[in-house]
Amino acid sequence: METVKGILEGQKEYFYSGNTLDISNRKSALIKLKNEIKKNESNIFEALKEDLNKSEFESFATEIAMVYEEIKDAIKNIDKWSKRKKVKTPISQFKATSYIYKEPYGNVLIIAPWNYPVQLVMSPLVGAISAGNTAVIKPSELAPATAKVIENIISNIFKKEYVAVVQGGVEVNKALLDEKFDYIFFTGSIAVGKIVMEAATKHLTPVTLELGGKSPCIVDKSDKIDIFAKRIVWGKLLNSGQTCVAPDYFLIHKDIKEEFLKSVKKYVKEFYGDNPIKSEDYVKIINKRHFQRILSLIDKDNILLGGNYDEAKLKIEPTVVEVKSLDEQIMSEEIFGPIMPIITYSKYEEVIKTIRNFEKPLALYLFTENKVLEKNILENINFGGGCINDTIVHLATTELPFGGVGMSGMGSYHGKRSFDTFTHEKSILKRSNWIDIPLRYPPYLGKISLLRNIFK
Ligand code: NAD
Repeated sequence: METVKGILEGQKEYFYSGNTLDISNRKSALIKLKNEIKKNESNIFEALKEDLNKSEFESFATEIAMVYEEIKDAIKNIDKWSKRKKVKTPISQFKATSYIYKEPYGNVLIIAPWNYPVQLVMSPLVGAISAGNTAVIKPSELAPATAKVIENIISNIFKKEYVAVVQGGVEVNKALLDEKFDYIFFTGSIAVGKIVMEAATKHLTPVTLELGGKSPCIVDKSDKIDIFAKRIVWGKLLNSGQTCVAPDYFLIHKDIKEEFLKSVKKYVKEFYGDNPIKSEDYVKIINKRHFQRILSLIDKDNILLGGNYDEAKLKIEPTVVEVKSLDEQIMSEEIFGPIMPIITYSKYEEVIKTIRNFEKPLALYLFTENKVLEKNILENINFGGGCINDTIVHLATTELPFGGVGMSGMGSYHGKRSFDTFTHEKSILKRSNWIDIPLRYPPYLGKISLLRNIFK
């Protein structure tokens, strides 16, 4: 097997050949990628079923459709995005013109997690290719069937000098991070994000960190509780809660708590039947370790709904628990599973105080019809992004940059922002030669007043 060093050397050479700079090459690479994914849809479905018990519908909606959208958007706009941009030149620089050139970083590394193992490899890759880079992809070893399909797709259409897949765990990750890439795009946990950033400092490599954390969901008093609960249950149980932007904990106005719980129960049943563990549409927990970790977060005395599980199937029933103190285990880490901790509040101030108790979240969801509350929450809480009166879907559009802030990550992508993420903006001032204003040249005696006249 070729070493990571060998692959990267090949990619460096390929990048310097200039092949990736040609816009038509980038477009045809994106078309190839789309066609190959299409050809492999059934293999992807099978692999996602094996790794996560994802249904075809959920696999298509959350893993494939978004990638098709990203590819379509990139192909449509790549000419515009990659064009040099003329900007104004200040009078003090007369006579000159100024441009921003869009330059690929070069050789990028994409490290992906297991929870959306196709989408979280392919979407950043679309950005890397559109911007004219080469890429090394490291899928998660925890979704091995999908990782294999990804490797097949990529190796069927790209030479490894252009896009290569490297498989492996800790040792391979370490070997990758030892190398000098020009950009690292990492999606995963906060803990590993710190390791990646530390490794990147050695080569001063810029990074995007797409991380996670505890994303709150606030439900205000309203006569729309039933539809609120429907959208919440959908977003929380998608991929069995193993979604970076899944609502993690719930701040529910005390007056609507019972009504909310009733609706949650109703929709769990409507979506997944009387016994969700048996539902073909209900995703399993990725492995035993995470299964045990999630179970250990449930305090049996606090269960309001659910609580059952099946160890053989690695499935945990949608479970609602009451939080009596923020010191409880369930509030100590990102849940990443189908557990809904409920905290009741009576005043807006309590909501703010509770959320500020935690790191800046990746997502925030607010269910309300009250515009003042909406304004207050949006103005007073820092978070990556989110929805008003819905969950999750802010990331399913190429128009909204997606990313975290603070501990939930840095940098963003999707649509044009993906292109920008993998692009260096090279600023160029082009001086005209027909005139050469003498002001800046020594000797300076008597010239400062002229300067002062310009820079008032
Ligand atoms: P993880 O951090 O354990 O692993 C992510 C990737 O990093 C994997 O490819 C893994 O092989 C690699 N890795 C593991 N240890 C490493 C090390 N020491 N050095 C370098 N690389 C290493 O995360 P995970 O369990 O796969 O995914 C779950 C986490 O990812 C959750 O916290 C979730 O919120 C987050 N996530 C974030 C987003 C987002 O877009 N912001 C999306 C999905 C998941």
